[in-house]
Amino acid sequence: TLEARRISAWFGDHKVLDRVSLTMPAGLVTALIGPSGCGKSTFLRILNRMHELVASASLAGEVLVDGQDIYAAGQRLTEARRKIGMVFQKPNPFPAMSIYDNVTSGLKLTGIRMRGDAKDDLVEECLAKAGLWKEVRDRLRQPGGALSGGQQQRLCIARSLAVRPQVLLMDEPCSALDPTSTRRIEETIRELAHEVTIVIVTHNMQQAARVSDQCAFFLAEQNTPGAIVEHGPTAMMFASPSDPRTSDYVEGRF
Ligand code: ATP
Ligand code: MG
Repeated sequence: TLEARRISAWFGDHKVLDRVSLTMPAGLVTALIGPSGCGKSTFLRILNRMHELVASASLAGEVLVDGQDIYAAGQRLTEARRKIGMVFQKPNPFPAMSIYDNVTSGLKLTGIRMRGDAKDDLVEECLAKAGLWKEVRDRLRQPGGALSGGQQQRLCIARSLAVRPQVLLMDEPCSALDPTSTRRIEETIRELAHEVTIVIVTHNMQQAARVSDQCAFFLAEQNTPGAIVEHGPTAMMFASPSDPRTSDYVEGRF
């Protein structure tokens, strides 16, 4: 379970999130929705300590993974990164690195050195979970950049899984992909939800409805920082939201 408590965020003096709290339970897929610029990506980057890489960025609040604050003193950045994987909008495998090495590229983070057979098994397992094994089993030594966009995104998912994260964050993972690749990744998300806590940002309301169990609607109204207007079970958020702004957004009237 991933828990964000009273997260506020700034870029310089510009406050972009205001006391956002959200619990993302293990076993569920949480979708973050809302208009452009409302702070969804910023929130996601705070959940795996990428926000602090921006020189002007600052934040307040806590992020707990199974009760442990990843921002607490003494918590190591690499440990947070290992527990919490991230998949981006644009597939970003290491293009010149082999498919095989792409999958294992994060292993050093764990400090575990694996031997040949165990490593082979892990590569197969992760590629299979990402729905890519059958397509690439005979070409594991080819460069990651030789794959199609949809395959590259599934390779990125496999790479994230190799360090056995507790949480997988996905920032518009399908928006650069064709409908077939999108469907396949949605199926993968549903299957992975049994073992990894998944948080996905999407602008596609049908996708949010298909893949998520709960939904949080972010909004930054006229020069105010982003905040969650409403959150709850996805079916409820779409069928009978309690805030009129939520129905305006999900029905495309924003
Ligand atoms: P989109 O749906 O378009 O991806 P978003 O909800 O992900 O939007 P963010 O990217 O989190 O929105 O941006 C939230 C606010 O933070 C915006 O006002 C944006 O301009 C600002 N912002 C984001 N990244 C930076 C940065 N590196 N430096 C300064 N401001 C930033
Ligand atoms: Mg974004």
